[in-house]
Amino acid sequence: MKENALIFKKLLSNKRKIVITTHKGPDGDAMGSSLAILHILEKMGHNVHLIVPNNYADFLHWMPGNEKVVVFEDNEQFSNKISNDSDLIIMLDFNNLSRIGNFKDAISNSNAKKVLIDHHQDPDLNIADIIFSDTKSCSTAQLVYEILKEMQLDNLIDISIAECIYVGIMTDTGSFKYSSTSARTHEIIAQLISLGVDNSKIHDLIYDNSSENRIRLLGYCLNNKLLIYKENNSAIISLSAEELDAFKFKSGDTEGFVNYALSIKGIKFATFIAEKEGIVKLSLRSKGDFKVNEIASKYFQGGGHINASGGISQVSINETIKKLEEIIIKYKNELKN
Ligand code: 5GP
Ligand code: MN
Repeated sequence: MKENALIFKKLLSNKRKIVITTHKGPDGDAMGSSLAILHILEKMGHNVHLIVPNNYADFLHWMPGNEKVVVFEDNEQFSNKISNDSDLIIMLDFNNLSRIGNFKDAISNSNAKKVLIDHHQDPDLNIADIIFSDTKSCSTAQLVYEILKEMQLDNLIDISIAECIYVGIMTDTGSFKYSSTSARTHEIIAQLISLGVDNSKIHDLIYDNSSENRIRLLGYCLNNKLLIYKENNSAIISLSAEELDAFKFKSGDTEGFVNYALSIKGIKFATFIAEKEGIVKLSLRSKGDFKVNEIASKYFQGGGHINASGGISQVSINETIKKLEEIIIKYKNELKN
């Protein structure tokens, strides 16, 4: 960390043309950590663009700097040109270029120096020149805070930047409840609140800001689409494209649905499956030592954290459910109480 921070700081001692990017389907941590870095680098006088692979949930659009975000899918030519012309690329909250969708080519072809800041397991060490990887960090946003501190740039953290970091930490820790939340997390949060972050306002903007359609879709999922495998402590919720359409699905609407399945007494393994843009996408969650990242990488071309992972399925939703049912039986010993 110390050594990398020195090299990174040195890189920033000249004015740079910088591209910041993060993973597809950017979540609160992806946007929070990326926007925080964007603000810091702009304050230092660099020329900075934040380019995200695709659009993100409406409940993140209030964040400071949102108007500066470029969506690759909607601005491919511009994004490719800016990445090609850049001399520094900073990648946040992902461990493999496969996570940035079609923006991958522009990033891997660029001759810019590359910095990776991430907290996922097994980062691909070939994708960057400088790698800040801390799999123990609850969020990339917390790691960003630690790096800024190490580089003695934390004096640049103003209330906007503090809000961005706060969002990243809050969303990736499930509001400070996951086991990844440490004493250090709370120390940093205390610092951010001291800087003026209104924790209650931010919680409200992120979690109590749903559309009526989202809440009705949640009700539909819980009432009609929840499969429970009591004997193996598992649950599955699935939604087809038609069902999503019927509730006028917007990006981010199903975020957190999987946690309702996991909140049922006794459930240790929960999966949410949804057909989005022609792809069957899975969100896997677990409690305790059941490693969903292993399931995601072995069966669904994905990965993630021990208790929160994702992946995709090449077969229909119904066939995916069947496949999961087989997996649940295969792992029944691990899923026992
Ligand atoms: P979510 O279920 O919220 O989409 O994703 C949970 C976590 O799983 C993410 O933080 C990310 O680490 C990981 N993840 C989600 N989708 C994928 C995927 O397609 N590939 C990989 N490698 N990881 C994923
Ligand atoms: Mn994260």
